[in-house]
Amino acid sequence: MAHRVTFVRGDGTGPEISEATARVLEGTGVEFDWDWQDAGADVYEEEGTPLPDRVLDSIKENKVAIKGPITTPVGSGFRSINVALRKQLDLYACLRPCKKYEGVRTIFDGEDVDLVIVRENHEDLYAGVEFEKGKPETEKLREFIKETEGTELREDIGVTIKAISVFGTQRIVREAFEYAKAYGRKKITLGHKANIMKHSDGLFLKVGTEIAENEYGDSGIEFEERIIDNLCNQLVSRPAEYDVLVLPNLYGDVVSDLAAGMIGGLGVAPGANVGDEYAVFEATHGSAPKYKGQNKVNPSALMLSGVMMLRHLEETEAADRLENAIADVIKEGENVTYDLKPDRDDPSAVGTSEYADAIIEKMKVAA
Ligand code: NAD
Repeated sequence: MAHRVTFVRGDGTGPEISEATARVLEGTGVEFDWDWQDAGADVYEEEGTPLPDRVLDSIKENKVAIKGPITTPVGSGFRSINVALRKQLDLYACLRPCKKYEGVRTIFDGEDVDLVIVRENHEDLYAGVEFEKGKPETEKLREFIKETEGTELREDIGVTIKAISVFGTQRIVREAFEYAKAYGRKKITLGHKANIMKHSDGLFLKVGTEIAENEYGDSGIEFEERIIDNLCNQLVSRPAEYDVLVLPNLYGDVVSDLAAGMIGGLGVAPGANVGDEYAVFEATHGSAPKYKGQNKVNPSALMLSGVMMLRHLEETEAADRLENAIADVIKEGENVTYDLKPDRDDPSAVGTSEYADAIIEKMKVAA
């Protein structure tokens, strides 16, 4: 039976890479019944909201979605749709596999980089609890802190609250272990700064360690912790020693981009936002609007997000075939987009659509 999946095209270069991705996913032979949905800036003009209910209803009905990037205009009326989707569908975990494919140029050539970052999506400094400089509520907070905790903060402060809960930590660490179990991963490293932030990162470390010991002690998966700055140092000096990283929101955001850089950049970095009920697969990169309509950008990141989706749908053989075809085309280096050529102005670079054709052809040859 065909898989019914919501496909949000996105805007900017989103529609081009979405079309290329849909074609390679269909090229695996797996049947899809796409529920195409538009969201974003153009939809805002027409429907008065960038994220109409029909998009959410579609994802709720189908449970699985794949999504092209969507622009968040700076200073405009609407907040990020990507954040809204994560909140409204309770997609509390962001999964970012960062695997280096042969043929992608990076300064880590010769190193084995194959990391998966499991980032908590809702809490920490990104919860949106903020106090603006000069506001009466900020002054109230300052007084409260002085009375209770004792610290006298300067008058001219702006404040962002870092809140980490037991509940949020438990479920993100469980997600990391469940992912490791499902995909044969060997080790989980929890990143934190508990030496400085004892009651937020300290709680993340304590609760995470309890889950590891009490619930996964006999899973055969190794568990360790690292202070986040040391972890960053080690990631770039001994990347092969790391496997799955579980991180609070802010560190997860930063380390995801660091790891994307280690494997050759945004063009090849896939991702997924998942919760207990729904999963939305999307590239790490944004809508790259300056290349809109040029059939130029690299669709690999969304295609590899599609590989993750195939695995989520238990289409493992098709997932392997698509991933291998992408890896082979990249390794050969011939029918690849400009960013995968040694010289970005190389005239032999192919477009988004022709790159998809080469992958489909590769899957046919392998069949
Ligand atoms: P971006 O990722 O869109 O682009 C930055 C640069 O990276 C591009 O100019 C391009 O040189 C390169 N690049 C990105 N994707 C590429 C690809 N597939 N192939 C080749 N090169 C690629 O980042 P930005 O310019 O900061 O953001 C543009 C818009 O996208 C913003 O409105 C931002 O809010 C939004 N955004 C959306 C998502 C999402 O939908 N999940 C994620 C990040 C950013």
